[in-house]
Amino acid sequence: MKYICQCCGELHDTWPSIAFKVPNNYLQLSATEKKNIAEISSDFCVIRYEDQTDYFIRTTLTQKVIDNCTDLDYGIWVSLSEKSFYDYRENFHNDDHITSYFGWLCSFIPGYPSTLNIPTTVQTKSDNQRPEVFPRESHNHPFVKDYYSGISVTEAERRVDEMMRHTGYYN
Ligand SMILES: [Zn+2]
Repeated sequence: MKYICQCCGELHDTWPSIAFKVPNNYLQLSATEKKNIAEISSDFCVIRYEDQTDYFIRTTLTQKVIDNCTDLDYGIWVSLSEKSFYDYRENFHNDDHITSYFGWLCSFIPGYPSTLNIPTTVQTKSDNQRPEVFPRESHNHPFVKDYYSGISVTEAERRVDEMMRHTGYYN
């Protein structure tokens, strides 16, 4: 899809967001477990293990692209505490619920050492958009480093191409 850019006035291609349909923890379950212990929707996931229950929500992350008008958007999952999860879910249709939670990244971003359990701040948004995730800058990980330093246009295009070719990774 092409659009007129508000930043430079040129015609650009849009990049699709790199989106994961379910948290990695859900992907790891067997078909029987998915049926018996998990609930999944487009924005929420709960997994009830014997000894604990895990709560996940769908969020976004914006990867800065250096010297480019557009950034690269991710659709990723984080796990929240039970308290944060219910606070978010109860206010899901509340426009004015502005708050932040602590979350652990639960999507496996290709091209990095495991991105699971990177600590993040999850910031809710005012207009019923999905919350945005900010990795904790103090956490030493190449994904966090890239997030704060930006990636090149070539690297962003490579990531989009890879997603188009391997949609199975992004379930
Ligand atoms: Zn532009």
